[in-house]
Amino acid sequence: MRAAELRAALDRVPRVPLVDGPTPVRRLARAFADTEVWLKDDSSTNPAYGGNKPRKLEYLIARAKAKGQEVVTFGFESSNHAVASALHCSRFGVPCHLVLVRGPAGLSPADEILKERKLALVRRLAASIETVDDYKHAARVGTKRWLFGFGKILLIPPGGSNGLGTLGYVRAALELAEQVERGELPMPGTIFLPLGTGGTVTGLAVGLAALGLSTRVVAAKVVPGAVNELPRLRWLARRVGKLVPELPRPSLSLANVAIDALALGAGYGAPTGEGLRAIETAGATEGLALESTYSGKALASLVRMKGDVKGPLLFWLTYSELKETAPSTP
Ligand SMILES: *Cc1c(COP(=O)(O)O)cnc(C)c1O
Repeated sequence: MRAAELRAALDRVPRVPLVDGPTPVRRLARAFADTEVWLKDDSSTNPAYGGNKPRKLEYLIARAKAKGQEVVTFGFESSNHAVASALHCSRFGVPCHLVLVRGPAGLSPADEILKERKLALVRRLAASIETVDDYKHAARVGTKRWLFGFGKILLIPPGGSNGLGTLGYVRAALELAEQVERGELPMPGTIFLPLGTGGTVTGLAVGLAALGLSTRVVAAKVVPGAVNELPRLRWLARRVGKLVPELPRPSLSLANVAIDALALGAGYGAPTGEGLRAIETAGATEGLALESTYSGKALASLVRMKGDVKGPLLFWLTYSELKETAPSTP
């Protein structure tokens, strides 16, 4: 389908304005002298707190507002999704209840400090916080709240990765295609980004395929298990297809996605050697601020695979640093 058709289809789904788009693109010529590597910088999706989550929350918060609902959502104590949900919901007057799972264990010292800062922030902004020991328990708490909310609760899964949230990255694919169209960057052969709960990768891949682009997506697996394997991502893509029936069926098959399982290392949140090296290089040469749970692992995938995939390459930065003084009230 043409860009204008995709835009019209996506515009039919209500959205609150959260994303300052298009986010910038630039070539990473200092870090990669002999390979053409570009950056799509989603650290600046939102001035208060950016990264990939605001693109999803544009649709999710709009749904909650339209139905007069309060949000219940989930994440580890270190969750960027929890921070983004608490912060952006509060700015739109939507109460956000967090069910946090203790951990994860094995964070780098820097990420451990970051976790404490995130917790301090969500304690100020969330309507309530309940902390539990594992995701099974979190799911029980969430289900109970939903059941006794009698229609007044919008449950948002971890990472914001349901069909509605995933639409944010279908829209991001469109944004990138329009930047290519305007000559801001060449059409990437391969895009590298982290694969957590899968909404980001799935939305992007669906959007690219819907536009008929041959760009491929390499997804650096940072969360273990079946939650982000291809069958589950295809299920998510079908949910997106239900919300936007104009999307061509073949674009929901995710034939353009390859999962790099080597990126994970010892587990979610556990730094890898190649990830830490990628962070170091990106900081020293390009002034990029990455972390070792998501963005460092995705850039490490690019470094390891750059000779074996079709160029030009694009590193999609999904991470946003926490501002020193995040707003306490709307
Ligand atoms: C949440 C997050 C991701 C993962 O996105 P999913 O849609 O859950 O796969 C990637 N990078 C950063 C920095 C994140 O906070």
